[in-house]
Amino acid sequence: MIKHLLFIIFLFVVIFSFGQNIKYKLSMNQPQNHYYQVEIELSDLKKSEFNLKMPIWAPGSYLAREFAKNVNLVKAFDSKGNIVKVKKTNKNTWKIYGFKGNRVVIKYDVYAFELSVRTSFLDLTHGFVSGSGVFMYVEELKNKPGLLEIIPHKSFKVITTALNEEIFWKSEFSSRCYKFNNYDHLVDCPIEIGNQLLFSFDASGVNHTVAMYGFGNYSVDKLQKDMTNIVESATAVFGYNPNKEYTFIIHNVVNAQGGLEHKNSTVLSVNRWTYEGEQYIKFLKLVAHEYFHLWNVKRIRPIELGPFNYDQENFTSLLWVMEGFTSYYEKLILYRAGYYSQIDFLNSMFSTLNYVEGSLGSRVQPVSHASFDAWIKAYRPNENSHNTTMSYYSRGSIIAMILDIQIIKKYNGKRSLDNFMQDLYSKYYIKKKRGFSENEFKQELKKILGESIEQFYTDYIDGTKIPNYTEIFFPLGLNVKYIGKPKPSVGMTLSSSQGKTIVKSIRNNSSSEQAGISVNDEIIGCNGIRVNKKSLDIYFNTVELGEEIDILFARDEQIFSTTIIVDAYEKPEFKYIIEDNINNNHLFNYWLK
Ligand SMILES: [Zn+2]
Repeated sequence: MIKHLLFIIFLFVVIFSFGQNIKYKLSMNQPQNHYYQVEIELSDLKKSEFNLKMPIWAPGSYLAREFAKNVNLVKAFDSKGNIVKVKKTNKNTWKIYGFKGNRVVIKYDVYAFELSVRTSFLDLTHGFVSGSGVFMYVEELKNKPGLLEIIPHKSFKVITTALNEEIFWKSEFSSRCYKFNNYDHLVDCPIEIGNQLLFSFDASGVNHTVAMYGFGNYSVDKLQKDMTNIVESATAVFGYNPNKEYTFIIHNVVNAQGGLEHKNSTVLSVNRWTYEGEQYIKFLKLVAHEYFHLWNVKRIRPIELGPFNYDQENFTSLLWVMEGFTSYYEKLILYRAGYYSQIDFLNSMFSTLNYVEGSLGSRVQPVSHASFDAWIKAYRPNENSHNTTMSYYSRGSIIAMILDIQIIKKYNGKRSLDNFMQDLYSKYYIKKKRGFSENEFKQELKKILGESIEQFYTDYIDGTKIPNYTEIFFPLGLNVKYIGKPKPSVGMTLSSSQGKTIVKSIRNNSSSEQAGISVNDEIIGCNGIRVNKKSLDIYFNTVELGEEIDILFARDEQIFSTTIIVDAYEKPEFKYIIEDNINNNHLFNYWLK
């Protein structure tokens, strides 16, 4: 009994002697039901009511995910254990009110059964916590530090997170206690709980921990060596790595979901067989991408992206810089670390370039609009998206490449985009300790590239023009030719579902659209013959200009017939030829040094 009493006094001293008035407790009594139990203990409250909120989104993933949908009953108690009133006041807010004293404990369960890098999950094999979907917050206390106690299920022996452990914490249970500086910090550190394999490596003066959930064809030795190369190559862009510790949480699964960046950690969701051949290069590219984000977006950032507003969408027109520049650097990092040859790098960039310029949406949606509307367009695509939207990742990476080349040309091979990124980092992150506005970013570009940036913005950032690639690349010894040609095209793509041939997409102004065919129509026959996806795909690839195709199709159980008159469609396309004496071109050598 005395032992217990001493233990409780010790806990009390530990928690309250450090002025921590916010404490979260996370437990998982029955992982098989996929519910986390969360307790939030708030002490030293100055008011007799406050609002408790669940974020609607996870930073880095620009979609309102409405995490409150996973919360059941919220209960609250005062320091004597009496029930405190709770009333839900909007979709993600609970009002806690009418209590006496200055301490309240809130308890709720969160359903977690969506395994992705931005959502949370729990089953008998492991738990993954993406904080913004699990931990609620009080607006007025968001900037305050606190503690997080994690009580893992008895079958889970390992906890991995970038949060620092509270060194004075002692518990007779298997629980562990972590410190956070503020709410942003808490939810920026995802947590893996289970029996994951751990390994570590030192690179660029940073100790890296890697947690592997799920089996896969990886070799720890190989990963240590290659991830070290990627980290060193990424750090070399800035010449300095701001972290002391960095954590990779890797989910090896069937359905790979990509990655999500954090300040000193990342979560990667990859196919478990990704660790060989070309797939392995893709994995290293993902590592480079998410690692580069520790600078670009987590530190160098638009003012809207941190500190975050968790209560609504955080709109910015600069995702093309955050994701586009990062997508350019993921390839540069692979090249500089020796995983891409010059040809691999150029082929990869030109494949992106042709994808961008060949997308119909590139002529409709400027890259700044694509950034701003990510919440309602990129993250909520529909059957018409390919006609009206473009990827700010891909077009942003092409713009990064153009800007890099323009800087190299202007400074005659003495400065590059690396210098621009370094300047942004030191001016805004280090000195001003904040993000930049859209206009400030533009002014920085103007500073390095001059007045011409105004027209560049009008044409390519807020406009949808195709850049003059021939002119851009010529001084670097690359001969870029336009090779797009009008080709006979039906303008529909098909899918096969339960033996039926279904229209998957229709190109705007195509001959299929003219003939009245829509997405989801079932194509039954063509020129009097029953068809399937395979036979139609072959036929559509061999049609000639002006050819008439009789189509029998079904829509909502009604049968229709129509005639497609094949017209021509010209998809913009470019190819590059390297000049023979390219190695004498000092601009090219500086670019791909
Ligand atoms: Zn990214």
